[in-house]
Amino acid sequence: MSQHPPVPLGTFPTPVEPAPRLAVALGLEPDDLWVKRDDLTGPGGGGNKVRKLEWTVGAALAEGADTLVTTGAPQSNHARLTAAAGARLGLDVVLVLRGSPGGSRSGNLALDGLFGARLAWAGEVDRAALDARAEEVCARLRAAGARPALIPFGGSSTLSARGYADCGAELREQVPRLRTVVVALGSGGTMAGLVAALGGDSVLGVDVGALADPAAAVAEFAAPLTREEVVPEGLRVRRDQVGAGYAALTGPVTEALRLAARTEGLVLDPTYTGRALAGLRAAVRDGDIRPGEKTVFLHTGGLPGLFGHPAAVAFAEEGAAVFEA
Ligand SMILES: *Cc1c(COP(=O)(O)O)cnc(C)c1O
Repeated sequence: MSQHPPVPLGTFPTPVEPAPRLAVALGLEPDDLWVKRDDLTGPGGGGNKVRKLEWTVGAALAEGADTLVTTGAPQSNHARLTAAAGARLGLDVVLVLRGSPGGSRSGNLALDGLFGARLAWAGEVDRAALDARAEEVCARLRAAGARPALIPFGGSSTLSARGYADCGAELREQVPRLRTVVVALGSGGTMAGLVAALGGDSVLGVDVGALADPAAAVAEFAAPLTREEVVPEGLRVRRDQVGAGYAALTGPVTEALRLAARTEGLVLDPTYTGRALAGLRAAVRDGDIRPGEKTVFLHTGGLPGLFGHPAAVAFAEEGAAVFEA
């Protein structure tokens, strides 16, 4: 494993805040629920990708890279934060995105442009073809004399999961008798680091539908970081919030967005944190998470993604009632 030091990008530890009104709305006791504010990690609008980028970009710098290349969906928070990290460190950034340039350019895509990243559109391709396109972009950059470093899909690897092992260590200090951390599970690095630090039994991952086998990815990233055995079957993963797929807005997610906003003034996003809260709600309903236990909801960021999701924006706007005097 790479021994390169991380490059400091964020502000840590992030705060933990009580969420008593949300706790009661979910059927928990008022002091059962805490929100770990990893939406407040720092540069580029914040979010969980900052902790992972500290490690992957640290390794890229140690290798002498002058250009960061990564992949993602058009509304990838990871791509946006890679663009911000590059701007902050004086590195060029090329984002290899699924889809075509014709769609909505708001949300994360607008910020990618603001940070000065170049975009390479890959078309409607699968993950393997997206990765192949990124390799091709790296080859072209090298041919032009640049020194590119390829950051993996979602920024997730065993190396970058260390950023979330650090988050787990923060939580151990901040929340005594912590029973469960609830986190959205995308490319897997975030949950993997938490599992390495806290043990598989303490982390509930809510799958967002980004990977065919998310538990396998989490186990693969986490296993080298802990002496405990980590196997996919031993992980707590819910797959009941995917709905019609990664980009789809589900009914339980719209309810979760509204609930967090109206009980705590907390903004969630339609792809990740909205699913995570919908999964927490389902876990309370089926008894996997119980009143009297300390639960942490990990807020992983994603706010720009709300504005990049037309259906979610339309749903949010519907909530504004007309004041009639
Ligand atoms: C990427 C992302 C996640 C999931 O993290 P992974 O490490 O990819 O599993 C959760 N929330 C938000 C807002 C994200 O952007």
